[in-house]
Amino acid sequence: MVCDIIVVGGGASGLMAAFGAASAPVREGTAPPRVVVLEKMPRPGRKIMITGKGRCNFTNLKPWEEFSTHIRTKAAFVRPAFYNFDPQDCIDHIVRSGTKAVVERGDRAFPASYRSSDIVDALQNAAMKAGARIETGVEVKSIVCNDGSAGNIFMVSCSGSRTYSAPRLIIATGGLSYPATGSTGDGYGWAKALGHSIKDCFPSLTAIVPKGYKNTSSRGHIDRSTPLSDIGKSLCGNQLKNISISLYAGGDLLQSEFGDLDFTDGGIEGPIGFRISRSAVKSLVNGAKVSVVIDMKPQAPAEELLPRISGFWNDISKTPAGRSTPIRQMLRMLLCKHMPQSLAGGFAACHPEMLYGRKGNERIDFKAVVNALKNWRFDIDGYVGYERAVITAGGVSTDEIVAKTMESRLRKGLYFCGEVLDIDADTGGYNLQLAFSTGYLAGQSAAKSL
Ligand SMILES: Cc1cc2nc3c(=O)[nH]c(=O)nc-3n(C[C@H](O)[C@H](O)[C@H](O)COP(=O)(O)OP(=O)(O)OC[C@H]3O[C@@H](n4cnc5c(N)ncnc54)[C@H](O)[C@@H]3O)c2cc1C
Repeated sequence: MVCDIIVVGGGASGLMAAFGAASAPVREGTAPPRVVVLEKMPRPGRKIMITGKGRCNFTNLKPWEEFSTHIRTKAAFVRPAFYNFDPQDCIDHIVRSGTKAVVERGDRAFPASYRSSDIVDALQNAAMKAGARIETGVEVKSIVCNDGSAGNIFMVSCSGSRTYSAPRLIIATGGLSYPATGSTGDGYGWAKALGHSIKDCFPSLTAIVPKGYKNTSSRGHIDRSTPLSDIGKSLCGNQLKNISISLYAGGDLLQSEFGDLDFTDGGIEGPIGFRISRSAVKSLVNGAKVSVVIDMKPQAPAEELLPRISGFWNDISKTPAGRSTPIRQMLRMLLCKHMPQSLAGGFAACHPEMLYGRKGNERIDFKAVVNALKNWRFDIDGYVGYERAVITAGGVSTDEIVAKTMESRLRKGLYFCGEVLDIDADTGGYNLQLAFSTGYLAGQSAAKSL
């Protein structure tokens, strides 16, 4: 089949690229471009369906100055794409396509129904209404670029012996995370074959696994399904609020974050766990010794905590109940003042040094309790991989892409957008916005260049 613009991948960036291409103004007397999206899954936007726990946090309304601080790669590269299609444009696009939006705490936008399928429908309908064709169940197997007399022609071979050709090709195949959604990294191989460099990929926004948390001695990638150890079981399910975490690699402090953290069946995650995961995974992949230190009481200095804890201890130990309660239980009561009840047992198991003396006649070391609360240290053995990582860091080097058009500097007529590029950001709607902005710009630029 001969067309003008082929978009490979019908995810967030591909659907937006198709809309950008099909809705771009055409020169007088010329027919609108024939735009086709090739998507290997039975439906487009499978990954969008699982975003934001099925609620889809599809953008973030922060102005560029703040938005850009959440981008973990070269933010300057996506600046032109952002200004060409910013978060408000994104909301307007979704609303025009029939889906109402709401903005929550932290400037995060969701569909008013909190159903991610509404976002997929809106993106798909907009692209189709503009004139793009979306072909599902069509897996691209190979891409060849031929030098034609009028410029490059891209020959795309697909499953079912189908072939497509076009002078413009947009690669929007996403990264490697959650491969069951169709994102299996196919775009990297074609980019490489077409002359592009790929920055090393690694999973990001993922759980990091403390030593001894799972029943394994493996390091590096530790599959999410690996069973928890007893310590892991005692910590799993707990959510810590308003704590701080510091990440160290080879003894150097890399990052400190304040906020909420979750212990899950994967390891350490939640908002600030995710925020440090990028540097943690990168350091582990590079062979560094990685550790984290949690401060359960970041607002209280140790000098303030010590008299508070010993005072509280004196109070409870003087009561009749206190005198007859075993010391380990008393310690747990003390800890419950500073953490969720369900965590106290696990925390005590991680810090045997809080008790000293002969068995049956133990005492509490208050300094050790304070130190445990302020410096809860975990050596990190590994991370959960692409099977459950939110995003792929790394990808097609942006040094070889024109930021104002998303066109390859190496192959005329070739464009890239979305996660296949070496761009990634924090959680909060930033990643989808980057996919939409780069996708829209790639589509528009490809159509304008025809
Ligand atoms: C669990 C989870 C939750 C997330 N939540 C959020 C959130 O709330 N907010 C946010 O901003 N971001 C979120 N993200 C990140 C966001 O989903 C991605 O950044 C975004 O989907 C990237 O869009 P993309 O178009 O580049 O890639 P994808 O959405 O991965 O789309 C790529 C498409 O290409 C297709 N494809 C691949 N290879 C081929 C081939 N050979 N032939 C044909 N088709 C092919 C795939 O089937 C897929 O449909 C989340 C991600 C995950 C995994």
